[in-house]
Amino acid sequence: MIKVHKEPDDLGAPHECCCLCGKPTAWWYFPNGLGFSEEAPTGSNEVACCQTCAVTATREEMPSKQEWCEREGRKKKAV
Ligand SMILES: [Zn+2]
Repeated sequence: MIKVHKEPDDLGAPHECCCLCGKPTAWWYFPNGLGFSEEAPTGSNEVACCQTCAVTATREEMPSKQEWCEREGRKKKAV
């Protein structure tokens, strides 16, 4: 079980896809545990992770933001 944080409702951006199951989600995992703050910390490493996956996920299996972006990028190019 990892802790995930819901993105602010007023963000207005389309939801990112969960890094584990690929479903769009408004929930994010923050390795630093701080969640959404007024000012996003630079170099933050958050990845989208839905509540369902968060129940069974472990810190060890979460990709880094870089790994996740590379994977997402490859997926988009492949379509
Ligand atoms: Zn998921």
